[in-house]
Amino acid sequence: MKEKIEKLCEGFREDMIRTACKLIELKAVSPDYGGEGELEKAEFVENLLKGFEVERFDAKDERAKGGIRPNIVAKVCDGDRMLWIVSHLDVVPEGDLKLWETPPFKAVVKDGRIYGRGAEDNNQAIVSSIYAGKAVSELIKEYEPNVGFGLVFVSDEETGSEYGIKHLLKLGIFDRRDLVVVPDAGNERGDEIEIAEKSILWLKFVVHGIQSHASTPKLNANRRAMEFLLELDRTLHEKFNAINDIFNPPYSTFEPTKREKNVDNVNTIPGLDVSYMDCRVLPGYDLKEVLKVVEEIKSRFVKRDGVPIDVEVLQANSSPPTPEDSEVVRRLKMAIKEIRGVEAKAIGIGGNTCASFFRQYGIHTAVWATFVGNAHKPNEFCLIDNMVEDAKVFALLPFI
Ligand SMILES: [Zn+2]
Repeated sequence: MKEKIEKLCEGFREDMIRTACKLIELKAVSPDYGGEGELEKAEFVENLLKGFEVERFDAKDERAKGGIRPNIVAKVCDGDRMLWIVSHLDVVPEGDLKLWETPPFKAVVKDGRIYGRGAEDNNQAIVSSIYAGKAVSELIKEYEPNVGFGLVFVSDEETGSEYGIKHLLKLGIFDRRDLVVVPDAGNERGDEIEIAEKSILWLKFVVHGIQSHASTPKLNANRRAMEFLLELDRTLHEKFNAINDIFNPPYSTFEPTKREKNVDNVNTIPGLDVSYMDCRVLPGYDLKEVLKVVEEIKSRFVKRDGVPIDVEVLQANSSPPTPEDSEVVRRLKMAIKEIRGVEAKAIGIGGNTCASFFRQYGIHTAVWATFVGNAHKPNEFCLIDNMVEDAKVFALLPFI
């Protein structure tokens, strides 16, 4: 079967390059970033899915071209359960144009690379999965797949997924027994399968004091905030100190970050201090427990000074990890080993990907691709070899 997949995918190589180039030119920037959305790109992709069972599940968005944000769900072969490859149609804007050596929305093929915005994030995966689908539709003439195989192309991944994955999950398109691969992160060797993400908690603290002349200080909001934040910092690190080696760093992080400007002059005691904390918590902990500790320390300071501290949760997102022995991880490991001869390992990350929405819904999801790692950067490119090699791995997944 490996030889057959090699032959099929290598036969697709030139078509894959052409497709990847066209995708770059169909600029699909979200209306949130002043773009027109994904409609034209989606229509082009849909045309490449002839022979598959294709459905569109568009989300309404008046700001976008056509008034919609398109989402495509294509079944290559149906099954009692499905294995889905989920990639995203939208791209981030080009950023500072001066940093680009070639026009960002004009594809340039050079030295085995394709340059252009979206080349790697996430067009490489769009192309790999489409041609893996084409390979699978050939393979099923001879071999019996042991799971259904489907492709999903979503909008709005870069700006919250409200019109994309979240829309599809609300419509109940997926079964909880389905398996999902999200090819939206990965390393150069293609030997890291992301199965877990730290929970993200963003907090804003408004610490009150009494504004006064510096020579006759009353309650200094600056000092009060420093005391409060240091106490919080220390306690959170002590209480939530578990280690999990699949993550880098392997522990939860609690970082005081942004601090708003207070008074204009040196001789005024600030009456207000506004600061922020970015917390990345290992998935074994419940964010409610973290918030409880924040509340406890806050009440102690409020009681001590008789002046309020306001705590605002700006973002709280967590998802259960996909078990390392989950079927989707096992299939990926086996396919990577078979095609590449590489032993892949499970890892966790500190950020959130759209895999978290599937995991919150109870679907086992693995994030995997072979990436150079230049998403969102100027002169973004993908390696043509990665695009073709990933297609081979995807094509083997429903048979392994
Ligand atoms: Zn992406």
